[in-house]
Amino acid sequence: MRIVLVGPPGVGKGTQSELLTERFGAVPLSSGAIFRSEIEARTDLGEMAKRYIDQGRLVPNGVTIQMMAKRMRSAEVLKHGFILDGFPRTVDQAIALDQMLEDIEQPLDGVVSIEVDAEVVVARLSGRIGCTRCGAIYHKVTKPPKRDWICDQCNSPLFVRDDDQPETIRERLRVFDENTAPVIGHYEELGLVRRIDGDRDPEVVFGDIVRALGL
Ligand SMILES: [Zn+2]
Repeated sequence: MRIVLVGPPGVGKGTQSELLTERFGAVPLSSGAIFRSEIEARTDLGEMAKRYIDQGRLVPNGVTIQMMAKRMRSAEVLKHGFILDGFPRTVDQAIALDQMLEDIEQPLDGVVSIEVDAEVVVARLSGRIGCTRCGAIYHKVTKPPKRDWICDQCNSPLFVRDDDQPETIRERLRVFDENTAPVIGHYEELGLVRRIDGDRDPEVVFGDIVRALGL
């Protein structure tokens, strides 16, 4: 299985990635994790990426793609396939990825776009409350603390993080749509996009993904 998983924050992409890994053994690949492992291993590519990151600059596509290519040529990924998450973010990256996968003769099986209404995401994420002292995360509806606004673990007061304020969430969703629409458009032209309704139980969503990919 070789797929790209696309979806806004709060849509449950992490859960689906885990379920796909469990069932099919595909290796989850995120550009962030690949950067970290190359940097830790102090490879030439890792050192190059680190220079950009340290300067607060974006790692150039060429470097990112080379790191991806290296990981995709590993025995584990060639055997079990991959689930790309958070990459490609731009059409340029998508085109570079297509080229690289063609070079190693490992074409994509599909691009799974998990979609939910913005307000559903806002409701899900804006219910989150966190402890500033120990970092525990609760949810007003799905995982409330035993006492209102008090951490179960350390008895500190709980807060809504800035990231989880409804307005911040709406802005993140807007930026996500703006960046992702062209990438989805690119893969639409190649007939690879499978749109999945993400506003249901994770198991139901998973069943749809499996069916949509013909697995
Ligand atoms: Zn706490």
